[in-house]
Amino acid sequence: MNMEDKGQRITWTEDNRPLVPERPVIAYIEGDGTGPDIWAAARPVFEAAVKQAYTGKRQIVWHECLAGEKARQASQGGNSLPQATLDDIRSYSIALKGPLTTPVGSGIRSLNVSLRQELDLYACVRPVRYLQHVPSPMRWPEQVQLVIFRENTEDVYAGLEWPAGSPEAGQLISTIRRLQAVPSGSLFSESAIGIKPMSEHNSRRLVRRAVHYALDKGYSSLTLVHKGNIMKFTEGAFRDWGYRVAAEEFPEQTVREDEVDKKHQGRTPDGYLLVKDRIADSMFQQMLLRPEEYGIIATTNLNGDYLSDAAAAQVGGLGMAPGYNQGDRCVVFETTHGSAPKYAGLDKVNPGSLILSGVEMLDFLGWKEAARLIVKALVKTIGQGAVTYDLARQIPGSREVKCSEFGALIVENIEKE
Ligand code: NAD
Repeated sequence: MNMEDKGQRITWTEDNRPLVPERPVIAYIEGDGTGPDIWAAARPVFEAAVKQAYTGKRQIVWHECLAGEKARQASQGGNSLPQATLDDIRSYSIALKGPLTTPVGSGIRSLNVSLRQELDLYACVRPVRYLQHVPSPMRWPEQVQLVIFRENTEDVYAGLEWPAGSPEAGQLISTIRRLQAVPSGSLFSESAIGIKPMSEHNSRRLVRRAVHYALDKGYSSLTLVHKGNIMKFTEGAFRDWGYRVAAEEFPEQTVREDEVDKKHQGRTPDGYLLVKDRIADSMFQQMLLRPEEYGIIATTNLNGDYLSDAAAAQVGGLGMAPGYNQGDRCVVFETTHGSAPKYAGLDKVNPGSLILSGVEMLDFLGWKEAARLIVKALVKTIGQGAVTYDLARQIPGSREVKCSEFGALIVENIEKE
């Protein structure tokens, strides 16, 4: 009997919460480029933390799924995202994934985007928290405690665009001109055209997921970020649908910012989730100037793309930012950086993003003790000044270590707990 035979599948409650056995099978994708390097460093960290926290009563049973170059090689040049991988992730329902290279060539979709679309992982979640000792450009980076929920299926991710001068763009331009008067200078016969679809269904499920998270974790505010001042029927509708989700589905737990004065004499009542909205451009200022006023952010696809990288940079951890893509009964935790091919096989890059995505996964499974052990040991290791090259060049007096050494030092610190 191999290890996997002894594991059990995670099941789900009616309201989409995971029921986790003591030995859950977790699907994993090693990833391309530096994927194998960071996995080799990160996996012992997960194993040490689970062993230390639960003294052998719990164990992750890893199930490898092939994707990217490894899948192409296994099928002698065939599919880089095999059906078996999609089926396994669906069936085990939780996966941890390294970075995948997008093959170069026209018409080839990003494997990451394909995976999200095939599994309907409609929320891209990016927790942004400061870790002590990590260099940051902010004066008080510890005030940044954000979790960004970014819509993952429509807006620019719908991929609806046509090149300048193409027959498709031409047809659309004719149709648009028939539908409404277009201000002069803003639409030429040979313009390129992109379409930005946004639906009530997809906006509402994203905001619903963000509200559930905020309530579960005890956050005091949720901010809908949009560009509704300019795009009223798409971005503005996202804001309106978001407010409606809060009011209609969570009336006892949420209160709108503009109703606080009316209903509660200017004070947010204790225990309520304050729901507010901000225009996307002002949100960038707010995150820099008043980060302590923001907790959960729910936003559209393109806004979320910009905001999540900007927020990660504020805590200095672009190379160490965790993330995951979530559907109703399927979650893929994954590195936020790419496959960094020029460093592949050099045992050099920082495994922090994979390790912290694994921490998010453990937390999601309810294995909070193991998650806390890893964060504590990671912070301690950085504090001891032993870091990978990316951090070494920013932390004066630190010592550069290899990717595998960094992982081994974290394991050592876990074992000392
Ligand atoms: P990248 O993130 O792979 O690398 C850009 C630079 O960031 C690297 O040269 C390196 O300096 C730094 N970097 C990345 N990961 C690091 C780490 N763990 N530690 C330290 N430094 C790190 O971005 P790219 O070069 O634009 O993309 C390479 C490939 O990855 C492309 O094919 C792209 O499509 C793919 N990609 C995949 C994902 C994903 O799987 N989620 C995300 C982004 C890009």
